[in-house]
Amino acid sequence: MPLHLIYARAANGVIGKDNTIPWHIPEDMAHFKQLTQGCAVIMGRKTWDSLPPRFRPLPGRTNIVVTRQGDWQAEGAVRATSLQDALQQAPADQTVWVIGGAQIYAEALPLADRLEVTEIDQDFDGDAYAPTLGAPWTESARSRHVSTKGLPFSFVTYVR
Ligand code: NAP
Repeated sequence: MPLHLIYARAANGVIGKDNTIPWHIPEDMAHFKQLTQGCAVIMGRKTWDSLPPRFRPLPGRTNIVVTRQGDWQAEGAVRATSLQDALQQAPADQTVWVIGGAQIYAEALPLADRLEVTEIDQDFDGDAYAPTLGAPWTESARSRHVSTKGLPFSFVTYVR
């Protein structure tokens, strides 16, 4: 089953701070929604917790949450005990996106065939980092943008 990663990262690799995302780019949220709509999304339990309650489960998507807590449950979420379990629980007819956070990206990267990365042209303070992309990854598309608040960023696709 093809597995894609989608994330936004600062120039210094930061993706999160204090279990939130340290920037607000509406264009990136729309991009994320457009790409993941109708798909299965796999996330770590901390990323689930980071979503504002009014946004979870992410509508129109199968929300699968990876946790080691046997008694964890949340309305609208499918619990998975591991990344492999999450992949098995994803509906066979849905594209699968890994949507964070740092722990789950690192674990999923070797299994992924495509990455959709929002590269922000500015450093941010943080405590969660994007995975390091090694030799197998090549850039296949890039479009440059400036957010309504003046923050320059690019939507970049990497493939193996
Ligand atoms: P995370 O990856 O979201 O979740 C970690 C949790 O997932 C673990 O505590 C554990 O849950 C579970 N887990 C991880 N590996 C597991 C495994 N092998 N088997 C079973 N369960 C496993 O946490 P994080 O790395 O701290 O990332 C969160 C940060 O990333 C936040 O700041 C968030 O805002 C940010 N984020 C950024 C983006 C972006 O695109 N910029 C996207 C998503 C998230 P339990 O503790 O419940 O066992």
